[in-house]
Amino acid sequence: MSLIANIIRSEVRDLSAYHVPDSAGFVKLDAMENPYTLSTEMQQALAERLARVGLNRYPVPSYSALKSAIKRQLGVPPDYDLVLGNGSDELISMVSVACAKPGAKVLAPVPGFVMYAMSARLAGMEFVGVPLNADLSLDAAAMLAAIAEHQPAIIYLAYPNNPTGTLYDTADIEAILRAVGDTGVVIVDEAYQPFSPVSFMSRLAEFDNLLVMRTVSKLGLAGIRLGYMTGCPALLNEFEKVRPPYNINVLTEAAAEFMLEQVAVLDAQAAQICQQRSLLAAALAALPGVQVFPSAANFLLIRVPKAEQVFAKLLKQKILVKNVGKMHVLLENCLRITVSTPEENSLFLDAFSASL
Ligand SMILES: *Cc1c(COP(=O)(O)O)cnc(C)c1O
Repeated sequence: MSLIANIIRSEVRDLSAYHVPDSAGFVKLDAMENPYTLSTEMQQALAERLARVGLNRYPVPSYSALKSAIKRQLGVPPDYDLVLGNGSDELISMVSVACAKPGAKVLAPVPGFVMYAMSARLAGMEFVGVPLNADLSLDAAAMLAAIAEHQPAIIYLAYPNNPTGTLYDTADIEAILRAVGDTGVVIVDEAYQPFSPVSFMSRLAEFDNLLVMRTVSKLGLAGIRLGYMTGCPALLNEFEKVRPPYNINVLTEAAAEFMLEQVAVLDAQAAQICQQRSLLAAALAALPGVQVFPSAANFLLIRVPKAEQVFAKLLKQKILVKNVGKMHVLLENCLRITVSTPEENSLFLDAFSASL
């Protein structure tokens, strides 16, 4: 159709829409969601809170109460401001829009989070993927060489990484921050921070080019769509100009404020998921032919002899995991499994052992 060719950019025409499989009736272990729902008491208190929200008014775009709650409850240093996004996906596209000078490039290790490359291309920037080592650790030498060659404006380091669960070496990240200097921003994406023992949040004062990006999605609030990012004030000031002024809606704002008052509930769930992660990893590693990669996130990446077959057999048993084998050569025969409740994990383990 010539209308499409005439008006739609080739970067957009070349993309396929982000595919989310229909999961009704499945044990859903494919999207790193928190499996727990709210208690009846909390549901009621939340409903009362949401009922008082003025749906007729625009949000107040400073979001100061919400920002204070995030800073206080989620460990952001008090002297740092935040930029809020409709999920961290929106923060990623805001950074792309702000940095998309002609010829600007985006660099990240691969396999990594798919939105980095997608958002770069949509903003008209070249994406440079630097392969991880075979053990899925960061190839620091290759990263530094690629940074010197391409001078990227944006570097993403998911810490821990998705879909591998890996934590990169602190010294390698420091070396990257220093090598990039004032030619680019390094975004440390801590989407899985609730399950990770480490963070770069306390290192902000040392690096002007460091941005720490997080989301409440994996903590248990994927449905409300809320991400936050912090870093040096001059940078945040520029990203604020790109942010759609009312991007966090009043219901998300109220629900997030409510949940952050009770963040201990979510923290306890995260602790339980970490405990389950160890148990599930040990149980999987004990099965013949199964390789389990170390994970600091709420999922496990595993390698099995015939991943396609195992995936299909799991589907027949109404269990949905993520088949990442086609994402990158380094992930051949790999599956990514979200850690869930003890009950769902054991359903998965039974079905999985029967599928091998
Ligand atoms: C899930 C995920 C995000 C996206 O989070 P949203 O806030 O739900 O958009 C960002 N980065 C990584 C590495 C993720 O795995």
